[in-house]
Amino acid sequence: MSNSIKNIKISETDYKLRKNRKYYNISYNDKDSFKNLGGRWDSENKLWYINGNNPNKDKIAQEKTEIKINYEIIPNCYACNGTGESYWSDGVYGTCLECGEI
Ligand SMILES: [Zn+2]
Repeated sequence: MSNSIKNIKISETDYKLRKNRKYYNISYNDKDSFKNLGGRWDSENKLWYINGNNPNKDKIAQEKTEIKINYEIIPNCYACNGTGESYWSDGVYGTCLECGEI
């Protein structure tokens, strides 16, 4: 099995909430058993994950293949602390859509 590495663009705010997630390579046939162990679906990135406080995390780590994540963290707006998505579109920094600062 090849090493799985995924790139995820994420706002600074969301990164703070999600950095303890662990992502796993879960086949379609395994998704129900993974869900029963507390696995969740990240619909934005189309990946299965568990939260850092999952009580089954050791069992999952032994049985499943983890996906390594390269996070590209989009900083919040310096002026209003709005999240990255609000002033970032098509991969280019621009005017903050929340406060209008550039
Ligand atoms: Zn702003």
